[in-house]
Amino acid sequence: MMSAEPTLQAPGRTNRDVIGSVSADANAQAGNSWRDADDLRWAARHWATRIGVRLRQVHIRPMTSKWASMSTAGRLTLNPELLALPQELGEYVVVHELVHLLAPNHGKLFKSFMLAYLPDWEQREQDLRRYEPALISPDNPR
Ligand SMILES: [Zn+2]
Repeated sequence: MMSAEPTLQAPGRTNRDVIGSVSADANAQAGNSWRDADDLRWAARHWATRIGVRLRQVHIRPMTSKWASMSTAGRLTLNPELLALPQELGEYVVVHELVHLLAPNHGKLFKSFMLAYLPDWEQREQDLRRYEPALISPDNPR
């Protein structure tokens, strides 16, 4: 049961770019899961405001080897498979990508930002790997 798409769309983009293909019913029984794609989009907007970065676009689109990607221009792409995972893991992926607007690689600066915003981020990263062992980091295919 998907609601009408989308409500948080950047100007100038077409609906074609925003695909919420995962059924919300599929994760209804999991504890704290995302309601739908808009729920995940809202979280991304919320975190961008909190971190103080400019998030220009949020796209939810299937990707074969990544959970997410972030362009330097502030265009965030999220894998719809995140919708089937616990919310805290999707939240980790979102924060990870947003922090890349402050620190492009995974060095010390990146880790200090992650610690500031999500003190348990390393645990969440480990948990995320249980769902997709092939992925080392949300945006780095092995
Ligand atoms: Zn990264």
